[in-house]
Amino acid sequence: PVERFFELNVAPMEGPPGSATMILTLRDLSEARRVERMRVDFVANASHELRTPLASLLGFVETLQGPARHDEQARVKFLGIMREQARRMTRLVDDLLSLSRIEQNLHLLPQSPVDLVTILRHIADTLAPMALENNTVLHVDAPASVIVPGDRDELLRVVENLVENAIKYGASDPGCEDRDVEITLLSQERHCVFSVRDHGPGIAPEHLPRLTERFYRVDAGQSRAKGGTGLGLAIVKHIVARHRGRLGIESLPEQGSTFSVTLPLYVS
Ligand code: ADP
Repeated sequence: PVERFFELNVAPMEGPPGSATMILTLRDLSEARRVERMRVDFVANASHELRTPLASLLGFVETLQGPARHDEQARVKFLGIMREQARRMTRLVDDLLSLSRIEQNLHLLPQSPVDLVTILRHIADTLAPMALENNTVLHVDAPASVIVPGDRDELLRVVENLVENAIKYGASDPGCEDRDVEITLLSQERHCVFSVRDHGPGIAPEHLPRLTERFYRVDAGQSRAKGGTGLGLAIVKHIVARHRGRLGIESLPEQGSTFSVTLPLYVS
């Protein structure tokens, strides 16, 4: 059930002597309430995400200044952990800034001609070391060139996030037998469809509708351990919307996931 909120205002009006006339106005505040609640939740989530690594950093600093002051082994180990926590905060702040920048420009249409094939090949090369580390093979199946109107950096981000997720959550799962990730680009008459398919553990249907919400994760511990901020798919969704595209997610537990993006082609 959808909750609805109304504001009732009563204003007395001047009427004939001896009568009581008033105007009743009813204002639907549901949408404003929903937006406000989302904003409050977002600030709370972001603060919590930053607070956890900060608390850990502070704890290690205090230990290094106190009990472990002369312990060389502890020093090396703790500094390594502190560096990782600081990196995590940097990733989170970078993602928050990207999200807010994209949201501010949501109504602007990025128009430069961008070759999606160059982007796919570039990301496949950049992520090859990560794939290798996870015994994964990235397969790219694309025509020679597919031009869409857009912002190159933002589209790069979309492809990178989806391929990275396919390696991180799909192919690298211990129970995953088929570790191939297929990156496919199909060009149709007026649109093109770019998709990333993995054969990993998949996502249960109850999670699918919320997957692109900020900070939504199927397994928060696993996401943090893999360096995730919980903002990746929210950023993807916003960029795709800004490009007048559509994001599709198909996934079945034990059978893997396919994330696909449909974008209009460039018309010169
Ligand atoms: P994160 O920073 O946690 O990676 P994302 O927004 O990119 O955040 O993804 C949200 C969640 O969706 C992830 O935490 C993960 O649980 C799930 N997920 C994303 N891609 C896949 C995939 N290919 N296979 C299984 N789960 C996935």
